[in-house]
Amino acid sequence: MSNAERDPEELDVGGAAGVGTSPEPQRLDAREVPLGGPRALLVRRTLPQRQIRTVGAFCFVDHYGPVRPRDEATQVMSVPPHPHMGLQTVSWLLAGTVDHRDSVGSTQQIRPGQLNLMTAGSGVSHSEYSVGPGELHGVQVWVALPEEHRDQAPHFEHHDDLPLTTSGDITAIVIMGSSEGATSSAVAYSPVVAVELGVSTGGSGRWPLDSSFEHAVLLVQGSASVNGALVPHGAMQYLGWGKRELRLESATGARALLLGGEPFTEQLLMWWNFVGRSHDEIVQARHDWEDGERFGRVVGDDHPPLAAPPLPTSVLRPRASRPLS
Ligand code: MN
Repeated sequence: MSNAERDPEELDVGGAAGVGTSPEPQRLDAREVPLGGPRALLVRRTLPQRQIRTVGAFCFVDHYGPVRPRDEATQVMSVPPHPHMGLQTVSWLLAGTVDHRDSVGSTQQIRPGQLNLMTAGSGVSHSEYSVGPGELHGVQVWVALPEEHRDQAPHFEHHDDLPLTTSGDITAIVIMGSSEGATSSAVAYSPVVAVELGVSTGGSGRWPLDSSFEHAVLLVQGSASVNGALVPHGAMQYLGWGKRELRLESATGARALLLGGEPFTEQLLMWWNFVGRSHDEIVQARHDWEDGERFGRVVGDDHPPLAAPPLPTSVLRPRASRPLS
């Protein structure tokens, strides 16, 4: 997935968290962003936000669908070759099928319950197209790579054997990290956890949390009470850090994405599809995508690559960006 904003801001994210008191739990409502093209797929973006830029190393969360293609010739998701650096892309589907191709030679179809995890490192390019006439529903999440791992060579993982676990009325798939005694084999470069939680109609349960992590819960289907706060479909409830459990209760039945991690203390600069540390680095990455070999070529995809948006006119420096509480 690509950030398709025509005029993306250069955002300083991360930094400053992990010291002092946790921010208060709060609801983060999504903003709608078209994913490019005249009949663009609308995505609901819940990270980054002004008040909460990152949750652990998670720095970007888009939720899309459920939506059906208009006709047989139309793909709901059509994201031609585009670059990434300094992050991992987490592709997670609730319905549908998406074809992934990348510049390290991977060709991988993904279905619900499976994880496509692409570690961009110093630079990679990829494309994603939905397949078939059925509904498409999913999330695209980015994980910032810490300094000591961000210049690594790009690589790609597909996981179709993620562990399932339960607690009370809650069923879960552990996507990254460890939760309730189950551990994903996906490779992470900082302490993070990502879990799909399901609660049946009228169901409730408690889910243990690592109190050294901060957490957030995105309602991808239905609505639920999250630690006592009613969270509507599409919104994210930020929980802060120091919490030992998540209480989930849903009259409608719900599916939610639990994201967490050690508060990410490195200062980041995020622009378009890049996570860097300085304006000059972002400028160089844009240049290398428009005119260079650094991001490679997506194997088996002849679509014209996405052009980078114009650079912002102002120069930003990363700074301690989360309001200290
Ligand atoms: Mn992408």
